[in-house]
Amino acid sequence: MRIDIITVLPELLEGFVRESILGRAQKKGLVEIHLHNLRDYATNKYRRVDDYPFGGFAGMVMQCEPIDRCISALKAERDYDEVIFTTPDGEQFDQPMANTLSLCENLIILCGHYKGIDYRIREHLITKEVSIGDYVLTGGELAAAVMTDAIVRIVPGVIGDEQSALSDSFQDNLLAAPVYTRPADYKGWTVPEILLSGHEAKIKEWELQQSFERTKALRPDLLKKKD
Ligand code: SAM
Repeated sequence: MRIDIITVLPELLEGFVRESILGRAQKKGLVEIHLHNLRDYATNKYRRVDDYPFGGFAGMVMQCEPIDRCISALKAERDYDEVIFTTPDGEQFDQPMANTLSLCENLIILCGHYKGIDYRIREHLITKEVSIGDYVLTGGELAAAVMTDAIVRIVPGVIGDEQSALSDSFQDNLLAAPVYTRPADYKGWTVPEILLSGHEAKIKEWELQQSFERTKALRPDLLKKKD
């Protein structure tokens, strides 16, 4: 899988895409993440990519031309499954969307800034608009980081133990069961007996029951989405 992130602040994401799970996924050759500085596609000597909005509104707007030039250059090299724009008025990002996007081969994620991007780009080049929540961030970089992390960690082979990702919250519209590690008794705070029993089937049953109970108590809305 390949993800191309277009941003005016690539330095914000450089460390993030090199480290931890994303870094390891790239070293294993499972994923490629490329950062593109939108200013490299500016056509003026000041490398400006924004201008005043028509209509005299406040703030600045990212111009069509650099975005079009950057996306066109990428599309000339390969086909993309989706050209995603991060935006607060987009479709809410969630685990099912991450699952679907993790099956894609090539994705572009465009990070907005200022008041956003010229709407014509959204009409003509963007295929999917995604929000990470009902609040407004300064730029799309954090949204791109959130999405990239959630997508890449479920690409087969990225996490050593695939079962681990499948038992995380929101897979199957359930919250995860509680987890514990050694020591089994810390200051008299003990671990549920069943987890020390070695009885695999009963432990699985306990895990599922805990998931249901926690989901019912904390996120009953998820249970309504279950078949
Ligand atoms: N004027 C825009 C509006 O009211 O919808 C907000 C612009 S915001 C200051 C600048 C950029 O940050 C957006 O274009 C978008 O790329 C990104 N952004 C802000 N909040 C976001 C969110 N909740 N989800 C995804 N991207 C977001």
